[in-house]
Amino acid sequence: MVDKTISIDEARARVLTEASPLPAEERPIEAAFGYVLAEGVVSSLNVPPFDNSAMDGFAVFAADVVDAGPDTPVALVLRDTIPAGYVAEHHLNRGETAKIMTGAPMPQGANAVVQSELASEADGKVLIFEAAKPGLNVRRAAEDIAVGDRVLAAGAELGPAEIGVLASLGLPTLKVYRRPRVAVLSTGSELVEVDQPLAPGKIRNSNSYALQAYCQQIGVDVTRLGIAPDDYDSTLRMVEEGLTYDVLITSGGVSVGEFDFVKNVQDALGVERRLWGVAMKPGKPLVFGVKGPTLVFGLPGNPVSAMVSFELFVKPALLRLMGHKRVVKPLYKAIVEEDVFSKDGRTYVVRVRAWREDDRWHVSSTGPQGSGILRSMVGANGLIFVPGAPKGVRAGQEVDFLLLREDLKEA
Ligand code: AMP
Ligand code: MG
Repeated sequence: MVDKTISIDEARARVLTEASPLPAEERPIEAAFGYVLAEGVVSSLNVPPFDNSAMDGFAVFAADVVDAGPDTPVALVLRDTIPAGYVAEHHLNRGETAKIMTGAPMPQGANAVVQSELASEADGKVLIFEAAKPGLNVRRAAEDIAVGDRVLAAGAELGPAEIGVLASLGLPTLKVYRRPRVAVLSTGSELVEVDQPLAPGKIRNSNSYALQAYCQQIGVDVTRLGIAPDDYDSTLRMVEEGLTYDVLITSGGVSVGEFDFVKNVQDALGVERRLWGVAMKPGKPLVFGVKGPTLVFGLPGNPVSAMVSFELFVKPALLRLMGHKRVVKPLYKAIVEEDVFSKDGRTYVVRVRAWREDDRWHVSSTGPQGSGILRSMVGANGLIFVPGAPKGVRAGQEVDFLLLREDLKEA
């Protein structure tokens, strides 16, 4: 029987027990954004590789200009011009300077740079109007990264900063965890695809597309296997195909109806069940199991149930397969704006609009919360978890809250 006593946390723990990072692969650095490093990176280079100027200005020997000031400029002989990307030919002698661009290597004989705004150039001479200490405006070799530095550890998520650092180390390919190949299958004889005409008694398949989008949000490619009508043989055939992927996500057909074949089919195909039922609403009849290396999720068919179940159980598992260490969104506390009742002991997962006020989160229901009412998800930027015992929360009370998406401000 469907188990109504398993908490959301317990259910997620059972799922995550079965999910470990997939094998590593090499990816070109330009296609590695969002992936997770499978191996730590130790630098074989100094970054920057040489002392260079942090300013457009004049390279000087600091001792030559100790007495320089706004009213007491020091005159130096202009010996050279050093653009970025070129090494100076001349060694500077005392009393000499070189015009130098930002990023150009420091010439020998110089140990500081006076910025252009504090100097003036005329007739082969440069007047310096400010004193410099050794090292002024010089970026030292290896000040960012030195040979042998451990730059990133295995498990690092590759965001723009990480990608930039790895590029500066000259790594055209990176060893990252492979991403899962995911199949999505909708079940139900009532379903027709988005581009097919509706007939009496039929509704459109929305779950395949919502679940695909959810996967795309975390960078996972999805194959939609289509719609399995509610008959045993078709369902068997299509689920069998789904088991060739790393993850199979079905929707529908996991309740106790006469035409709910998904569990029977899973049993026949040797899927080992780890979970059937979670003490939550919506989403109670969730089924989860494994077949060899494949994770098999049977989500309930109600569109909201399917989406909430994806958020709470499938997404963490996919992130874990991708090598992420952080896979679960943190819970915050939020003040509910209206009473929310939960009747039957299950945790009531309510779609909310959330906002910050007085340094606290406030939440308000997005409207009718039936598990078939997909509009309750539209405009929702959070979920709240209303305990089934005691039976709900009153306006003004605190409740656990999960932020689904960060909002940008209009400008
Ligand atoms: P089930 O879990 O199969 O009993 O389905 C529960 C409800 O969700 C029924 O009203 C179905 O018509 C609906 N449903 C199932 N699958 C989908 C789907 N892929 N897209 C939209 N609604 C669905
Ligand atoms: Mg069904």
